[in-house]
Amino acid sequence: MTSSIWHPFTQHGLGEPIPQVASAKGAVLHLEGGAEMIDAISSWWVTTHGHANPRIAAAIADQAARLDQIIFAGWTHEPAETLAAGLRAIMPDSLTRVFFSDSGSTSVEVALKMALGYWLHRGEDRHRIVVMDHGYHGDTIGTMSVGARGAFNRAYQPLLFDVTSIPFPATGAEQAALDALDAACREGAAAFIVEPLLLGAGGMLTYGADTLAEMARICARHGTLFIADEVMTGWGRTGTLLACEQAGVVPDILCLSKGLTGGAIPLAVTMASEPIYEAHYSQDRGRMFFHSSSYTANPIACAAANANLAIWREEPVRERIATLSRRQVTRLATLARHPAARNPRQIGTIAAFEVGAAEGYLSNLAPTMLAMFRERGVLLRPLGNTVYVMPPYCISEEQLDAVYTAIDEVIDRVAG
Ligand code: PMP
Repeated sequence: MTSSIWHPFTQHGLGEPIPQVASAKGAVLHLEGGAEMIDAISSWWVTTHGHANPRIAAAIADQAARLDQIIFAGWTHEPAETLAAGLRAIMPDSLTRVFFSDSGSTSVEVALKMALGYWLHRGEDRHRIVVMDHGYHGDTIGTMSVGARGAFNRAYQPLLFDVTSIPFPATGAEQAALDALDAACREGAAAFIVEPLLLGAGGMLTYGADTLAEMARICARHGTLFIADEVMTGWGRTGTLLACEQAGVVPDILCLSKGLTGGAIPLAVTMASEPIYEAHYSQDRGRMFFHSSSYTANPIACAAANANLAIWREEPVRERIATLSRRQVTRLATLARHPAARNPRQIGTIAAFEVGAAEGYLSNLAPTMLAMFRERGVLLRPLGNTVYVMPPYCISEEQLDAVYTAIDEVIDRVAG
């Protein structure tokens, strides 16, 4: 029977196979029919502690039997209260307010709306958003507007709002990016939104902590709100809980999702500093923050996030991250000797490199390599000709070796 499902980021016209996954445990996917596959991209960057983590699964089951869903406008519940307190304890002190939503994109939409609300309620006409070239913040209209324009969103350009884009601070070109940010802030930009240290969907591009720190200083100097989109970089991916930590940066607004629930169930938060909350705080109902979704702070998702926080508090998560990061360094160093592997780079638990010449997201190499990885029992999904490895922290040394063996074979084949 043919399926009627329309899959995301999938060209059905190419007739590529769509494997069906029956179950998953740790870093391994079990397919219908019995095949196994190592999940080397954390199921789209979300799974941190491994699939079917018993503590998270138990929290979900327990909560589902107790309170599954409740309106969150004017109502509250224990899992959300516990989670807000837990996030306050682990995230920077000045991020005093926690606003819930359901995905990385909505956490960014919320951040943008908070920033604009802040300026409106202060009576200042500041609404320009500054972004970074190659940035990615989601696929909704607002998040596409603040993301890179290109193949992802060509059809929707007429709907996207105008932003000021600064160059990516590639090594040696940092000053141009800083100067452009400074100029935009001088003109009264409302906010600067950025993925700290690592631009994910834009091609796993890394830049330095010093540059990030300087960008935050520039924003602070001009009162431009600094929005850190840590949807992908958060929860240890870059080696620290937040990537911002490595630069000593505390944002005005912080977006978190993906690893917030260990990657088990959708949930997001936008954390804001007190002045942003205060700007909306009033006796006037017209100044409330006008954002909601049906499932805001869904109790089951909050329970999963509380289990994730308990894992961070009680298990050696940081050691696991450090171990995986070290292994990524050594595997990548070996791989880098391959003549077809260009521009190898690594940050924390993530390693990336390009195969052959720069080709962009629609490079035919991507589906070719994906199929070859699949044949070798590895889930890797290159971004164009950029191959990256972003496994769950529980991946074993043998499993990671198997991933790199597959990469070695595949780049041999495609380069040869
Ligand atoms: N921001 C960043 C940095 C992301 O990497 C992503 C997703 N890859 C998003 C936002 C959007 O998150 P979601 O897909 O959960 O909407």
